[in-house]
Amino acid sequence: MSTLKAVRGTRDLLPPETALWNRIEETARRVFARYNFGEIRTPVFEDTALFARGVGEETDIVSKEMYTWEDRERFDVSGMSSSWLHQNSGFTHSESNVKLGEHTIDLVITRDATLRTHDQSPSPITVTELVQFKPELKQYDVDRLIELVEEFVTSTGNALVLGKLVVPETRNLQATGHPDTQHRVFVEQIAGNFFQSSQRLTLRPENTAGVVRAYIEHNLGETGQLQKLFYIGPQFRRERPQKGRYRQFSQIGAEVIGPPSAGSESPLRDAEVLEMLATLLDELEITGWTLNINSVGSAADRARYNEVLRAALADVAGKMCGDCQRRAVTNPLRVLDCKVEADQAYIEALPRMADSLDEESKAHFAAVTAALDEAGVEYTRNHRLVRGLDYYTRTTFEFTHGGLGAQNALLGGGRYDGLSEAIGGPKAPGIGFAMGEDRLVLTLEAQEEAKAEKVDAYIAPLGEGMNAAALALSRELRRAGLRVELGDGSFRLKKSFEAADKTARRIVILGEDELKSGILTVKEFASGEQSKVARTELKMILAMAAKA
Ligand code: AMP
Repeated sequence: MSTLKAVRGTRDLLPPETALWNRIEETARRVFARYNFGEIRTPVFEDTALFARGVGEETDIVSKEMYTWEDRERFDVSGMSSSWLHQNSGFTHSESNVKLGEHTIDLVITRDATLRTHDQSPSPITVTELVQFKPELKQYDVDRLIELVEEFVTSTGNALVLGKLVVPETRNLQATGHPDTQHRVFVEQIAGNFFQSSQRLTLRPENTAGVVRAYIEHNLGETGQLQKLFYIGPQFRRERPQKGRYRQFSQIGAEVIGPPSAGSESPLRDAEVLEMLATLLDELEITGWTLNINSVGSAADRARYNEVLRAALADVAGKMCGDCQRRAVTNPLRVLDCKVEADQAYIEALPRMADSLDEESKAHFAAVTAALDEAGVEYTRNHRLVRGLDYYTRTTFEFTHGGLGAQNALLGGGRYDGLSEAIGGPKAPGIGFAMGEDRLVLTLEAQEEAKAEKVDAYIAPLGEGMNAAALALSRELRRAGLRVELGDGSFRLKKSFEAADKTARRIVILGEDELKSGILTVKEFASGEQSKVARTELKMILAMAAKA
């Protein structure tokens, strides 16, 4: 039997590495508490529509990378077959259609592929009409449902009772008045019942949309206060796995969101979040990070810039890579993300977002950078930083780290003033970020390795008679500030080489001949180079190599 392994793009975290994960999370919690952030935990899966509307249908994440499935229950459209439907319809015509205090009406699909309430229906209801009440259903679902109804009716020659529609007393047939209103009430209720259990769900590819959904659902805006929320947890994207890029990865993130009256639009919030991140990275002891910031402006600024770019790209896109040619038409902003070497000169020559910002966006950005200057947080303006998610407005940022290689973004974020409204909530501007925990771990591990760097030299006495002379040589070098490991004369030469290779960059051999002549044999492991060095020069040569 073939052995089962963790799924591609996922991995197990084992001790001792998990200790590092815990240390990172503890540090993050400590820093968040100092800035008065509280923890939020949202479900790992959500209604697909949340990401489609929030993150944007055209983004790579939504169009290519989400783990989405049809949640199968009784009336799952995509997975249903007519025979399955037959077995599971569950009701018969003979069941009573009137219940105490309520009208209970059987829901029937008929041969002509219309849905019809078994009796008392004001008029037949079509499948197309029904699905209009589920805007997230795609044409695919509608087609599938019609196909299914036709298949069922043809194979059984029967109408099918799908379920019961319960009409509350207050909305009963007599009370609903005009036939058009009755009809609408019916369609709405049937749609509600019919699709209730057929839902398209998605493993969250990011957490901001979920946090904003929760903000809306729990009316957090009604407190009138800014909500400062952080989360730590797994996210899922079907990306091509490579170092630093996984299909399940963990993010540490935070959001500041609230009604405009609470100051949620203020550039001070942006600067405070960035200052907190600089502090967090410092406390995590991550050294050598760079903060890149930019402004993508308001939705109107972005639309304007998109057109400016589209026009500029019309002349050059033909000479650029395939992705750029496609994006030049579908989503010109994304051209700025292109990493293809040959395209860089064309991209650098394109008009800049900064020139398409309106006065308000310009002033907002200037206030953010002024606050960062005052607080002493260093940053670089990166005109090409547009980020891949549709919801960003105004400030966008990324912290990068040279040690990460191709996947060099430690964290990214920005302002999303229209996100709440895009998913049906009140006006609730906000700003937030998500930090890749996997990448923090990689960076810290690389730093640890660098720290546990090999010593400058390993002194190998040849024979026990050389031990004392080797100690004297080590003392001389160590007093000159060099890091030295001292071997033992009882070791055979091979054993000395093995021990030295593990701990030192060079081995220095000290035998009787060397002691007499004052000329030592030195081997550098990295290059494999062996040379004769005068004892008087050894200190200087090792010191120069240590500095290089
Ligand atoms: P994004 O929302 O794409 O900007 O992601 C925010 C941060 O999450 C990035 O800067 C990365 O550190 C991390 N991240 C995103 N995608 C992945 C992935 N597939 N694997 C590991 N980390 C990721």
